[in-house]
Amino acid sequence: MGAVAFIVFVIIDLFIISSLVKKGAEKKCHKCGRRRAKYELKTEVIEEESTTVTKTSENEVKSLNDKPVKTTINEVVKPAPKYKYEVQMKCRYCGDITTSTFVSSKKLH
Ligand SMILES: [Zn+2]
Repeated sequence: MGAVAFIVFVIIDLFIISSLVKKGAEKKCHKCGRRRAKYELKTEVIEEESTTVTKTSENEVKSLNDKPVKTTINEVVKPAPKYKYEVQMKCRYCGDITTSTFVSSKKLH
């Protein structure tokens, strides 16, 4: 059970990293071709999805002679909402505005 939770967290992390990379790549202006020309004009939540993450932990109860007697598994369901953002980027050179979306598990602003 612990391994499954770990894999889920790795997938979520990769998801966050890839969306951050995407955001950085969009700083290049496609109209005038200048790099790092775009700045964030507006970021707003356009969709909110409420999902949950189940965290499990095992507790081994030991007897006096150090032999495990029983194993209890604790399951904690934690809310893990996802937010879909719409970002408007404006070019500081030619004024071109592009709109893109990304999903994050963090609530910005
Ligand atoms: Zn431009």
